[in-house]
Amino acid sequence: MKIEIISCLSDNYSYLIHDEKSNTIAIIDPSEFETCDKIIKKYNKLDFILNTHHHADHVNGNLELKKKYNSKILGFSQDKKRIPGIDILLEENQKKKIGNLEFEVIFIPGHTKGHIAFFFSKEKIAFTGDTLFSLGCGRVFEGTHEEMFYSLNKIKNLPPDTKIYCGHEYTKSNLNFCLAYDPQNTFLKEKAIDIQKKLNSNLPTIPTILGQEIKTNIFLRCNDPEIKLALGLKDSSEVEVFSKLRDLKDSF
Ligand code: ZN
Ligand code: FE
Repeated sequence: MKIEIISCLSDNYSYLIHDEKSNTIAIIDPSEFETCDKIIKKYNKLDFILNTHHHADHVNGNLELKKKYNSKILGFSQDKKRIPGIDILLEENQKKKIGNLEFEVIFIPGHTKGHIAFFFSKEKIAFTGDTLFSLGCGRVFEGTHEEMFYSLNKIKNLPPDTKIYCGHEYTKSNLNFCLAYDPQNTFLKEKAIDIQKKLNSNLPTIPTILGQEIKTNIFLRCNDPEIKLALGLKDSSEVEVFSKLRDLKDSF
C-alpha cells in the first residue's frame, strides 16, 4: 500500500492510495479537483473515492473526478444525501475491499453526525478525517461533546503502532494548545522538536503514530491527573475534562 499525501487548499490533506499488486487507485477526501488530478493523472485511473464526512473541503473533488475516471464513491450510508455522487453505502463496522486492501468502517460521530474513519488493519493505517488530528481533534459541529469523546476513544483503542492520516495540517496550533495546558509533558517536548523540524523543511507532520498521540495529544489524555489539576477539574469525569478542553480550544 503506497500513500501519496496531496496538500490541498490552505491546510487540507487528500490521500492517494495505490495498491500495487492489483493496480487499484483510490483517493481519500478529494478537497479539490485540479490539485488531486495532477497526482491521479500519473496513474491515469481512479477506481475509488472514499469520503470521511460530507464537508465541502473533503468532497469538493468528488463529482469531477468521478466524471473523468468513472470512479465509485464510497461514504457512510447515513450521509447518502450529503455526499455528492455517492455509489456505495458503507455501514458501521463493515469490512470492505479496494483491490487487495481491506479496511474497516469506524463510525465516529461528533464533528459531523455521519463521520467515519477508514482503518486498514493489516497495514495498521487509519484515515481519521476531521476527528483525530495530530495533537488535536476536530470541532464538534453536529454531535455532542460526549459523542466526540467516545469517537476519539474508539480510535484510541486501535493498535498503538497505527499510523494516523488526518484531514488537516493543524499540528502547529494544536501543539501550542497542548503546551499551554500540559507544559511538563516530556513526550510533548520531544514531539515539538520533531514537528518543528518537519515544518521548517516544508514537510507534512502527517502521518503521526497513535501511540505517540496517546502520550502527547491532550484530547486523548483527559484522565491525566496533572491536566485535570491544571484545568481546576481534579474530581471531574473524563468527558467533562474533554468538554472543557474542547471549549478552551475553540477560543484559543
Ligand atoms: Zn470537516
Ligand atoms: Fe475539514
